[in-house]
Amino acid sequence: MKPLKLRTKLTLIYAAVFTLLLAGVSALFYQLLEYQLDKALAQELSERANALRGYLRFEGNQPRFVYDTSDPDEASFVTTATRYFQIYDTASGALIARSPEMEAMRFQYTPEEVRELIRAPEQSGIQTDQANLLVNNDVVRAANGRSYLVQIGVSLSPRDTALSHLFRISLWLVPAGTLLALLLGWWMAKRVLRPVEALSAAARDIGISELHRRLPVRGAGDELDRLAIAFNEVLERLEKAVAQMKDFTASISHELRTPLTALRGEAEIALAHAGAESECRRVLESQLEEFEKLSRMINQMLTLARAEAGQIELARETANLSALARSLVEQMEPVASTKDISLTARSGADVIVTGDTSWLERAVLNLIDNAIKFTPDGGVVEVRVRTQGSEAILEVIDNGIGISPQAMPRVFDRFYRGDPSRSSEIEGAGLGLSLVEWIVREHRGRVGVESRPGQGSIFRITLPLAPHKSEPVI
Ligand code: ADP
Repeated sequence: MKPLKLRTKLTLIYAAVFTLLLAGVSALFYQLLEYQLDKALAQELSERANALRGYLRFEGNQPRFVYDTSDPDEASFVTTATRYFQIYDTASGALIARSPEMEAMRFQYTPEEVRELIRAPEQSGIQTDQANLLVNNDVVRAANGRSYLVQIGVSLSPRDTALSHLFRISLWLVPAGTLLALLLGWWMAKRVLRPVEALSAAARDIGISELHRRLPVRGAGDELDRLAIAFNEVLERLEKAVAQMKDFTASISHELRTPLTALRGEAEIALAHAGAESECRRVLESQLEEFEKLSRMINQMLTLARAEAGQIELARETANLSALARSLVEQMEPVASTKDISLTARSGADVIVTGDTSWLERAVLNLIDNAIKFTPDGGVVEVRVRTQGSEAILEVIDNGIGISPQAMPRVFDRFYRGDPSRSSEIEGAGLGLSLVEWIVREHRGRVGVESRPGQGSIFRITLPLAPHKSEPVI
């Protein structure tokens, strides 16, 4: 299963906690209300039973509630309080009177149950299909010398209705609260994670050539600030290490140049004195060729190291890409013709960019040189220059050996050379395209490649066009 996003996790946790809390509070509130209602009802019932006892008279064995019918308060109290009552003879356990409502409930204790109630006359419950009552049990001794079990009841239905209302409200309230918590949680998680998103976007923007950049520290002094500071410290260490490596490459290339020049000089002198057909001459000629390759490679390494150390200052002049392509094609024509390769330049109107002509020349020359190197005899290489929107595009197209999909992402890496079986015969240190990439990047452009093995490659440089002189600047 795919791991959940942090935002989803935070939202779910928040909603779960909120739901639990809401359900817990609802349950507690329900219990509290139930307890309070029961307590109030029990108290009211026992007060009512006490008061009623004052109105109860026995005539013979017949009970009667005697009160002043002209007093509305008294009349109302006695009528309400006697709505549910029944009276049993304690000696026989027989029912001797009950209210019409009680009658309608058709509920009656057996003499056994009456005896049980007399032994512990507390409040109890009566539940039938018609009503649910709380009853007060009292043993009363009458003037006639007999004793009776007087049972006064109240209906529990208002209490039950209040509780079921609350229960139904909770049934709506908890899911509605959960929904609200989900929405609120989603919004809050977004707010909380916004600085994290900003940090990761900033970190993603820092490439190996931008190690001088730092992540923004908001100054809130929180965990995110500490993370940014720690990341910045790593960047600082990385920047130092990379700078040291660049320095090392630059100085090693520089140091190698002097002995190499001496070796080459000595080989040239020895060659001048070697016999025309001697074995020694053959060896010296081959050595000179190797020295040549080595010194080209060292020069390239030095240039790259200097470029990346920021020691190369590029001019910002007007550069005509079309003219540049034509002149380079002319310059490389003799090399192409040794392999019987047709090398042409195609361009419409002049395409002008801002930059350093000689460095741009170097980049395009590298691409043309590669195209000729990796195209078999009799092939075709074309340099096309055009504009697209506000950009200038220069393409070097060949119908050579092409690049395998596995090699594609690596061709711009330093020291990367295609698979040795293909290029062992072809000289090169794998630094040319790294330099091309650096030059293009310095011109705020990009370089890319499309290729099909066996069919050829297209290397494409895209640069911003120079601002048009004749256009008024607003
Ligand atoms: P090199 O000095 O080896 O030419 P580059 O950096 O210029 O180094 O090129 C790296 C690798 O990219 C080459 O070794 C080759 O495999 C591949 N490559 C570059 N240009 C082409 C091309 N036009 N056609 C086919 N492969 C190419």
